[in-house]
Amino acid sequence: MPEIPRMLVVGSVAYDSVDTPSGKNNDQLGGSATYFSVSSSFLTNVAVVAVVGADFDPGDRAMLSDRGIDTSGLVQVDGNTFRWSGSYREDLNDAVTLETQLNVFADFSPELGDAHKRSPFLFLANIDPNLQGSVLSQMSTRPKMVACDTMNLWIDNARPALVSLINHVDILLINEAEALQLTGCDGVASAAENLLESGLKAVVIKRGEYGAVTFHREFTFAVPAYPLISVVDPTGAGDSFAGGFLGYLSSVDDTGHDAIRRAAVVGSVMASFAVESYGLDRLRSLSASDINARFDAFVELTRFHPLGGGQGLPVRPQFNN
Ligand code: AMP
Repeated sequence: MPEIPRMLVVGSVAYDSVDTPSGKNNDQLGGSATYFSVSSSFLTNVAVVAVVGADFDPGDRAMLSDRGIDTSGLVQVDGNTFRWSGSYREDLNDAVTLETQLNVFADFSPELGDAHKRSPFLFLANIDPNLQGSVLSQMSTRPKMVACDTMNLWIDNARPALVSLINHVDILLINEAEALQLTGCDGVASAAENLLESGLKAVVIKRGEYGAVTFHREFTFAVPAYPLISVVDPTGAGDSFAGGFLGYLSSVDDTGHDAIRRAAVVGSVMASFAVESYGLDRLRSLSASDINARFDAFVELTRFHPLGGGQGLPVRPQFNN
């Protein structure tokens, strides 16, 4: 019997063409499941469920499996691999989609193997919510944690399937613009409150260079983004965040509050690397010491001493009540 992965991800495997203030790059390996699995592979044993076309470079599959990623669920069929092109010229925090070609994803109907069905952590990365739902419904035991992501295309075109999916997951990771679009709210806190009413345990709202806020039912926790001098390509930041976040939780096998706070920092660490170069280049080059050094930099970035001695701030006496 094949090994049960700690983490299963379904999502896109793509060739992306991006236009950023640093320039253009065409046909770079990308996709939500790709960024997620490369990012989480540093911390956990992850298996990918996705489809690629006849044009998929065998070297790209080898890159994933050489990192220990289980690609047995990465099906190859006739046709072309999913393609996405986007521009960050207007706003580095929010891609404008120029073109989406679903290609082989248009007819994909995933069938999970027995080992994959028993994975304790499941990430439903950005893809058609009907596919996300099909993977969730095939799990033979309810995973310990199910998280999902989505984007404007699916909010516009598949809202009923998305809303019913969200009712069955534990954590929704979503970017700010999409949280507002999905809920009709005009701020992240009200959007999160609205989403938590659907039964989610937590909503993580990603805010690009402004960081990410975790709205858990019992606490709220904010992490800044790492203050980088230069952002080359924001593509994949969200999926790399999710890979760090869930990769950490699955590796420590803990879904408690402290672990979730730390996971949000690990997510920000991985996202900060993803944007430093085009595509997966920077993420792929990382070593354990790079990751630990940036984690320590986040500890320093967010460190301050609470006030000692129960004194409170030195507010002037006339404001005592
Ligand atoms: P993000 O982490 O949000 O920057 O996601 C970037 C990745 O999402 C890119 O590599 C794209 O290939 C992928 N992507 C873009 N649009 C879609 C879509 N409609 N469905 C699935 N994946 C997508």
